[in-house]
Amino acid sequence: MSRFRSAVIALACTAVLLPMPLAAQRGGVRSYRGVADSLIRAATRDSAAYRRLGDLVDGFGHRQAGSASLESAIDWILGQMKGDGLENVRGEPVMVTNWVRGRESVDLVSPRHARLRMLGLGGSVGTREEGVTAPVLVVSSFAELERRKADAQGRIVLFDAPFTTYPETRHYRTDGAVAAAKVGAVATLIRSVAPFSIRSPHTGRLSYDSTVPPIPAAALSNEDAMMLHRMQDRGDSVVVTLRMNARRLPDARSRNVVAELVGREKPDEVVVLGGHIDSWDVGQGAMDDGGGAVAAWEAVRLMKVLGLRPRRTVRVVLWTNEENGLQGATGYRDQHRDAVGRHVMAMESDGGVFQPFGVNFVGSDAATRIVTQVGELLKPIGAGRVTRVKESPEADIGPLVDLGVPGIGLDVDGSRYFWYHHTDGDTLDKLDPAEMGRCVALMAVMAYVIADLPEPLPR
Ligand SMILES: [Zn+2]
Repeated sequence: MSRFRSAVIALACTAVLLPMPLAAQRGGVRSYRGVADSLIRAATRDSAAYRRLGDLVDGFGHRQAGSASLESAIDWILGQMKGDGLENVRGEPVMVTNWVRGRESVDLVSPRHARLRMLGLGGSVGTREEGVTAPVLVVSSFAELERRKADAQGRIVLFDAPFTTYPETRHYRTDGAVAAAKVGAVATLIRSVAPFSIRSPHTGRLSYDSTVPPIPAAALSNEDAMMLHRMQDRGDSVVVTLRMNARRLPDARSRNVVAELVGREKPDEVVVLGGHIDSWDVGQGAMDDGGGAVAAWEAVRLMKVLGLRPRRTVRVVLWTNEENGLQGATGYRDQHRDAVGRHVMAMESDGGVFQPFGVNFVGSDAATRIVTQVGELLKPIGAGRVTRVKESPEADIGPLVDLGVPGIGLDVDGSRYFWYHHTDGDTLDKLDPAEMGRCVALMAVMAYVIADLPEPLPR
């Protein structure tokens, strides 16, 4: 068969399949090939999603929960979504954590004077105005702290733990302050949770518990943490002054952004797709998670542009306050609790819109088989892999997954994600328009087919 002839046949197939949703009803997942190809073409033919993400992050900057920039960004998105012709566009109110960083610094005062690179951890208490000056005890792990706990009293404990995996290493960020307070430390520092650094500190949320008083906590750049460790190993007396003006204000009003394409046959059954619209107060939150939020929005917009209206409702949700409280996600679940049983699937992109390989899926055996078939439709863009996971693959869909909703997270090339995660370097340029387009295609095909299949995904 000549290349010319196969091209003609491919065109003919597309032309036959596109206007025939009824054929798709009878033919199973495979019969969505034409629709899937048209969504893939639309999502990858230009840089529309990337340009819109640029408008968002350059126009509003970071979007920390409680900030005016988050609420202005939400107002802008609601207006744009209405302009796109999406339906039932609204902001659903939620109260959110309102933690502000204020001025902050770490100064080395012995064995020499130097300003170190740092970021306070989200949720940390502040210090007195003059700061806290104390000798530093550097440890590599919680186990080493346990062995040296007699030395920790009255000191600032620095956890200089090398990055292994994010779920493992982030325990030093989330749990370090409690562990250090338990052994009498007056403050805690961590080496940033990152596999690579150009002296770029990484923030992120910490936890306190009720058993010990909260102590101030900050992340140093990896380079600075390693230097203090070397100084200690040489026998130097390492002393720093930590100053943090951080404080928690009363909870603030925010909104989850919601917009729909109402289903043509079963409008009460819903496929949710989204990302989180808030970010940390550093960088632009382009990667985490502006890209995921805009990709989900663009996926639904493209359905509208192509005149596709699935059997069930497709709902884009941009959750607020993922980073320091998850109140957007829990608020969404609470406000829609009566309808959770009619949520057919929930999907989130929150790992950066890098090259997608497929999806991580949590759900039943029968549902996994169907999602795997939908994955076949994404092989043309290298995004057909379906990996079954046991827990919710993303944070904001977690409250829905816990109530039995099948959940999908994007499986993307994560090799650079933690270089920029929660830093000043999380800016638009770290993302690639073509890779982002393929993430849009993946979200559009998954959401459309699952929303349109004759039967809901089996629980
Ligand atoms: Zn995120």
